[in-house]
Amino acid sequence: MPSFIPYGHQYIDSQDIKYVNKVLKSDFITQGPYIKKFEDALCEYTQAKYAVVVSNGTAGLHLACMAMDIIKKNSLVIVPAISFVATSNCLLYKDAKPVFCDVDKDTVNISVECLKKLLNSKIKAVICVDFAGLPCDYEKIYALVKKTNTVIIQDACHSLGAVYKGSKVGSCKYSLVTVFSFHPVKSITTGEGGAVLTNDRILYKRIQMLRNHGMYKYRNSWYYQVRMLGFNYRMTDIQASLGLSQLQKLDKFVRRREEIVKIYNEEFKELKDYVELPRFYKDKKSSWHLYVVKLKGKFKNKRRHIFNFLRNRGIGVGVHYIPIYWHPLYQRMGYKKGLCPQAEDYYRRCLTLPLYPSMKDSQIRRVIKVFKDVFQK
Ligand SMILES: *Cc1c(COP(=O)(O)O)cnc(C)c1O
Repeated sequence: MPSFIPYGHQYIDSQDIKYVNKVLKSDFITQGPYIKKFEDALCEYTQAKYAVVVSNGTAGLHLACMAMDIIKKNSLVIVPAISFVATSNCLLYKDAKPVFCDVDKDTVNISVECLKKLLNSKIKAVICVDFAGLPCDYEKIYALVKKTNTVIIQDACHSLGAVYKGSKVGSCKYSLVTVFSFHPVKSITTGEGGAVLTNDRILYKRIQMLRNHGMYKYRNSWYYQVRMLGFNYRMTDIQASLGLSQLQKLDKFVRRREEIVKIYNEEFKELKDYVELPRFYKDKKSSWHLYVVKLKGKFKNKRRHIFNFLRNRGIGVGVHYIPIYWHPLYQRMGYKKGLCPQAEDYYRRCLTLPLYPSMKDSQIRRVIKVFKDVFQK
């Protein structure tokens, strides 16, 4: 029995190990020089002015919300119905209220038409998620939010390495803040880790302070002040060093992911009556975090069967994601099923196949074979 192929997996090479070893043997294993080096490298890669690395992507989203004093108790903030729960949980930490927006049925990104209907002067911010690595329609979204004087928080936990209209995701051209995750299944990894990027200097200073207990330190002095209620959301130097090494391989990782997507798309063409395949878009380049297919035709309601068939044959398929407001936590808050029909229809039909840069050709071939077998039986 060949081994299990997960839906995502890290890629670690001898350079990564060398970078980590170097820090382990140095004087600082946390709060040393690699934090700044990694932050500078992220700025250089994305062209953002400022970056703050943190303990994970969820912490990054939390700090982004905290640092913007417009998000308070009962503030209304728009979030897409399909994402990982951390996207909207960050609002609950602040007692703010998520307003769920339906998703586009092709891209699964926030639907611009639905957003237009939901936006009004009471909305404080819009959180956009670049689903599966594909950037949202930021030009259109930006034009809308500007009219109502609100801002974009970009949850780019899937999309480090993606490009929108010639700019790298993270440039903060349209968003006030952009958040990355470095969990092992994401574009690059630091074990656990995340980053918050912005071009706003004041926001940057606040995020930096909030990462470290809300402390303001005076240069060359023992004296410091706690000015806000912050957290310990720091990243270690061990992680930052790994991140720095990984970042050098990011473009290579994305190219390999794209290569695998093209192989899958070519092979699965023959299944076009049963599955909708992911598409390429002219003005955006996905980082291909996930390879998601949507079942259709006579297999539309067969997701459970297909999921089990693949899992039983060692293919680590996934479902990304259950509509956020379907979770009991959100149901108890009063959100009703049926709220976002496109999101709910998508959820019933979606299936994620394995995709990661360290996939071997033999593993790709096995996924293709087993996935084609499903529709024969
Ligand atoms: C992974 C992820 C997060 C959370 O990142 P962690 O580093 O796991 O805390 C948030 N939002 C989305 C869309 C994600 O995929």
